Amino acid sequence: MQVLTPVNEVIASLLDAAVCTDRTERVGISHAMGRIAAEDQVSAVNVPPGDNSAMDGYALNVESGMAIKPGVPLSVSQRIPAGNVGEELAPGTLARIFTGAELPAGANAVIMQEQVDVAGDQVVLQRLPRIGENVRQWGQDICKGQLVIEQGTKLDAPEMGLLASIGLADVSVYKKLKIALLTTGDELVQPGTPLNSGQIYNSNLYLMQGLIHKLNMEVVELDVVADEPDKTEEALRFAAEHSDCIVSSGGVSVGDEDYVKSAVEKLGKLDIWRIKMKPGKPLAFGEVLGTPFFGLPGNPVSTFVTFCILARPYLLKYQGCSTVLPRMYKFPSGFDYQGGSRLEYLRVRLRDDGRGGTEIEKYPQQGSGILTSTSWATALAVIEPESSIEKGQHIGVLLKQDLVGT
Ligand code: AMP
Ligand code: MG
Repeated sequence: MQVLTPVNEVIASLLDAAVCTDRTERVGISHAMGRIAAEDQVSAVNVPPGDNSAMDGYALNVESGMAIKPGVPLSVSQRIPAGNVGEELAPGTLARIFTGAELPAGANAVIMQEQVDVAGDQVVLQRLPRIGENVRQWGQDICKGQLVIEQGTKLDAPEMGLLASIGLADVSVYKKLKIALLTTGDELVQPGTPLNSGQIYNSNLYLMQGLIHKLNMEVVELDVVADEPDKTEEALRFAAEHSDCIVSSGGVSVGDEDYVKSAVEKLGKLDIWRIKMKPGKPLAFGEVLGTPFFGLPGNPVSTFVTFCILARPYLLKYQGCSTVLPRMYKFPSGFDYQGGSRLEYLRVRLRDDGRGGTEIEKYPQQGSGILTSTSWATALAVIEPESSIEKGQHIGVLLKQDLVGT
């Protein structure tokens, strides 16, 4: 019997082989969205830099003795809008202050304007605030010297804001990897042209393009490669020269018409894993003239699943990302299911179970040519080999939003 390699072992081998790119660049923070930080970012400032008011109101010193107390008219000695610097608070007085303005020296609390009565140019407190009330303390968000963003973090909207908050205008990120996408097969036709008999449209090219764009990497697009040894070799040479990694679909099984395998072996080296997974049993991984090479199976659902489960963690590590594996969640199954000999990734959706909970719904057709299932699905359910799943039993799911993209 043929020995199949467990999925986890394949992922571990691929991650062992993946090396973080050493190519970095500085980009303005407006252009940092979705990029991976190439350095730790340590703050050179305190955020906020000084104590400031969280409310429109009056700054005061609640420990200044008997003069400051509720029910007594108090004079307002200064007015401090945000962006202005006040003077030291005169004893026994209040400072009119606005949200975001720094507290004047000598003040230690702010009473909100709704809790005072204004009588002419004097103010009467309805209550005495506590020390620190309505004051945002200096450094309460970030202190000078604090690690704010770790190398390997994906810079998303909050991180762009964070970088700006510590005063950085630009940031060092890893250069986007260039991924050459190779599709193979004499049956493939570009969308937009009529089909002749025996032909199908090249869906995988666009599927893989989308997946690469979601990883915020660049696509090096190549023409469809005919099922001929010379054309295959030529395309691989070009791809190796112009990209950081080649991802191909189709042409790596052992049929007479599968030329990718022999061409890669000629130009570099290739391992073919027979993986204990469904869909997507065969995966080729190796290198072409020093450029890493992934040979994904050609059936579109297999292409999708092997990309998300196997190629994505490798590519993310290569891109410098510190988080590369999707988290598994458990939800009750909405169906009975008998697992087969391989680990299975079913296309599923999480739906309302009608009782305030969530359950997993399976797409009716699970064949590896049913690309509609990947669009319909919001998750992949992971079915252990030989397991008998009963409706209501908790099973693992990987969310599509965690599998597609960074
Ligand atoms: P292969 O591995 O080349 O034998 O391909 C396996 C199956 O996937 C065949 O049915 C191919 O027609 C199909 N296939 C391969 N490449 C693509 C592609 N780029 N787009 C759509 N289907 C494909
Ligand atoms: Mg083929």
